[in-house]
Amino acid sequence: MDIEKIKKEIVEVSRFMYNRGYITSKEGNLSYKVDNFILITPSGTPKFKIKEDDIVVLDIEDVRKGLKMNASSEIFTHLACYDTDDSVKCILHAHPENTILLNLLNEDFKKKILFEAEYFLGDIYVSEYATPGTPEGAEVVRGVKNDIIVLDKHGVIIKSKKDLWDAFFKLEILEKYSSLLYKYLLFNKQ
Ligand SMILES: [Zn+2]
Repeated sequence: MDIEKIKKEIVEVSRFMYNRGYITSKEGNLSYKVDNFILITPSGTPKFKIKEDDIVVLDIEDVRKGLKMNASSEIFTHLACYDTDDSVKCILHAHPENTILLNLLNEDFKKKILFEAEYFLGDIYVSEYATPGTPEGAEVVRGVKNDIIVLDKHGVIIKSKKDLWDAFFKLEILEKYSSLLYKYLLFNKQ
């Protein structure tokens, strides 16, 4: 795979996520796995300013030994997802407002959103709560095969076997249906 092309895709999807309001400037993270390497967004760089040269490239074995340079603090969560399913090519993590609201309200994504969106999104997994960026944050997603994971009281992880645009499209659909359901629940409150 062409590393420069992947870096460009990470930068473009980062900016779309910011522009659509799915993250604030320093939130979220995006990665690709290429052979034994992981390419990931850096910690602390605003997503609307991010450039190809900012993308951190690390040997996965070095990451396992604890090396992370200035990679996102969520790198171990991404790694746990790649370890779970070798066919996953890339991952994005965002904080979409309406999806988080539904999670906070304890709404059942499977029953209430997916009657319409199931075709596009498949089965959504809601993880246990873990503090973001900690080893526990990686453990709550390890072994979960679903492409979409709602991280309790935190955000979402979306994996793709294709590319980051595919993950981004799923994020858009998830947030759209979450927004519709949230408004429906507000107006139909008994
Ligand atoms: Zn997060």
